[in-house]
Amino acid sequence: KKNSNYDRYYSLMEEVQKYFGEILFSKQGILGLEYLKNRGLDEDFLKRYHLGYAIDGWNNIGDYLKEKGYTEQEIFDMGLIKKGEKGYYDTFRGRVIFPIFSPKGKTIGFGGRILNSEKSTAKYLNSPETKIFTKGDNLYGFINKGSNIRKNGFVMLMEGYMDVLAAHKNGFANAVASLGTSLTEKQASLMKKYTQNIVICYDMDNAGRKAVERASIILKRYKFNIRVLELSEGKDPDEYLMKNGKEKFKKELRNSIEIFDFLYNYYIEGINLNDIILKKNFIYRFKDFFNSIEDEIEHSIYIEKLSIA
Ligand code: ATP
Ligand code: MN
Ligand code: MN
Ligand code: MN
Repeated sequence: KKNSNYDRYYSLMEEVQKYFGEILFSKQGILGLEYLKNRGLDEDFLKRYHLGYAIDGWNNIGDYLKEKGYTEQEIFDMGLIKKGEKGYYDTFRGRVIFPIFSPKGKTIGFGGRILNSEKSTAKYLNSPETKIFTKGDNLYGFINKGSNIRKNGFVMLMEGYMDVLAAHKNGFANAVASLGTSLTEKQASLMKKYTQNIVICYDMDNAGRKAVERASIILKRYKFNIRVLELSEGKDPDEYLMKNGKEKFKKELRNSIEIFDFLYNYYIEGINLNDIILKKNFIYRFKDFFNSIEDEIEHSIYIEKLSIA
């Protein structure tokens, strides 16, 4: 009985994904289409990646799915409507829609971005956790069952939807993003099935650099070889590609630095190693990183690098 329930959930999600897609290319989606085109994505690409648009209204999605024979409870279970004082209302309103696919290619959730970043609502909104969607178990941009990752011999881990789409558009189809959460063990183990090499391409702002530190500890537990892309111009991969194009991006990729060197540069900022207390604190910052490395040889290589500091 559980299985037939789940089949209905999956078909509901597919149905609404198609609906969002049709809206994007209809009169009602004109603002969304214009927005995405302005961000450098053409119609053909938008169709291939199944992007969509949610109308800025209260009951479009719910009504549409009810017409298609789904119950209010089912629509609610999938996080597409919310309960308000005056009844149910659509979760996604006036947003560009990024469908999220499971590793097997089923639609399991959505991300939505507002068009106007000056609005007071959150810039991005994701589907809540549902019976078929656990954020931490999935990656955005993980398409074709990981074949692009295997073919390239490495995976590129980015922060956001737009980063991944810009990367894929420019031929880097091995880019994925963790869905607005910090990287999980599940996501690491999913990537590990296809490669042991990863380039972290997070935004090089404070939040992004902090996130590199956190992600590196999880990734090392899964024995990844880790590099970090430090984009010199432009805040994130999307902006960088938009501004500088793919050849410069490729060059940056070749210059990506090994994780230890990244952490070293990050931790040493403003630290005078002649001061023993500061030096001790500096070395202690590597503690979690070292603890995450099982391989004795790798461990001793890093220790040696640190000991000549
Ligand atoms: P854009 O280029 O569209 O402005 P971005 O991806 O550069 O967006 P960031 O602020 O760098 O935006 O955030 C990275 C990612 O984190 C987003 O793509 C999204 O998945 C997630 N995120 C950002 N803001 C929020 C939010 N308010 N709620 C939930 N997730 C968010
Ligand atoms: Mn960011
Ligand atoms: Mn961005
Ligand atoms: Mn960003």
